[in-house]
Order: sequence, then structure tokens, then C-alpha cells
Amino acid sequence: MRIIFLGPPGAGKGTQSQNICRDYGIRQISTGEILRKHTTEGTELGKEAANFMKRGELVPDNLMIDIIISELKKPEFAKGFLLDGFPRTPVQAEALDGIMAKYGIKLTCVLVLEVPHEEIVKRISLRRTDRKTGKTYHLLFNPPPPGEALELYQREDDHEDTVKHRLVVYESRTKPLIKYYSSMGLAHRINGVGTLEEVYGKITKILDEQIHK
Ligand code: AMP
Repeated sequence: MRIIFLGPPGAGKGTQSQNICRDYGIRQISTGEILRKHTTEGTELGKEAANFMKRGELVPDNLMIDIIISELKKPEFAKGFLLDGFPRTPVQAEALDGIMAKYGIKLTCVLVLEVPHEEIVKRISLRRTDRKTGKTYHLLFNPPPPGEALELYQREDDHEDTVKHRLVVYESRTKPLIKYYSSMGLAHRINGVGTLEEVYGKITKILDEQIHK
């Protein structure tokens, strides 16, 4: 399966991606996590990306497309992948179409997780990320397992003002992709309000239908 996961920041894509990859045997490609790793390691790409990320802006398309080109070359993605956080602009979506055409592969579907913005601002204030694994937790709804040595921190771009700006960026630059993939008959909208289990139930229903198509 080759899946794109669209939706505003803080809608729960990261957490649900982990469930999907565990149950459907595919690998996740999270461009946000890749960038954060570069930032922590202090690479040139990391330094350049950090300027955009901390302001809640998008990292330029050419850098992101280069990342995806080198990720999709890796043999572990031959069986399938779930793209979490890419594409985020029409230019990235068209580049992805080109890369996939070159490999002779097609997308299975595009999941669109929808959560009202007021709800996201509330949720994200209690989101914490583990520095070592990149896994995200919510202090109330998805608390970290007790007894595990995690290095939880609040991402700089998860502070309220930056989150609000990221939502504006999502509306103007990423939301047009819903139309793009709907016109190809690939988009499936999912109401992301509810417990993690409820939302995951809706996701598996869609994915199981794809398998049996
Ligand atoms: P995320 O973890 O997906 O919320 O991504 C965190 C930040 O990384 C975003 O706010 C952007 O600054 C940057 N980023 C991640 N993926 C992309 C992308 N596909 N295009 C541009 N910027 C991205």
C-alpha cells in the first residue's frame, strides 16, 4: 500500500501513522521527523530547515523534494509506504507524481484527517514528543507508558502562536491538495474528532476496503 496522510498539524496523523504501519506492514516516511533529525544532528540541511520550522513556515519545495527522492530509493519502501507530512504544496504533489511514474507505481489512497482548528490549538498544547524516537504523546488522551525512559519535550513549533500560524499555512498551501487528490478519486475524508480508537476504526475501514477492491 502507498498512502498519503493529509491533515492539519496536530490532527493526530503521527500517532495514527504508527498504528497503520504496525498493522499493515508498511513503513512511515515523516518529513517532519527527518527534518528534526537533521536539526538535532546540526547538518547543513538541518540548519537551513530550522529557520523555517521554528517560525511555522514550510521548508522550500526543492529541499523537500530532494529528501523524498532519496527516501523512496531505499529498498525498505518497496513494499509500500505511508507519507506523513509530504506533500504539503501542489509543487511537491506534482513532483511526487513524477517520481512515482518513474518507478511505475501508483498511490493506493490519500487519507484526509479533519479536525477543527480550535480543537487542534487545545490538543497541541498538551502534545509532547520523545526526543529519541520522535513518537508523539498527548498528556491526557495518549499518555506516555509509565516506567519507560522517555525524553519528552514540547516542540518549539507546538507553542500556541506558532501552531496558529501553521494552521494558516496549512489552509493556504496544503488544503488545495484535497481537491487535487479528490479529482483523481483518491481522497478519503475522515472526521478526526473522537478517541484514538474511534478514529483508527474509521481509518482501517477505508484501508480494508482498498485491500479488497
Ligand atoms: P510536521 O512534523 O509534519 O508537523 O513538520 C514540522 C515542520 O517541518 C513543518 O511545520 C515544516 O516547517 C517542516 N516540514 C515538514 N514536512 C514538510 C514539507 N513536506 N514541506 C515543507 N515543510 C515541511
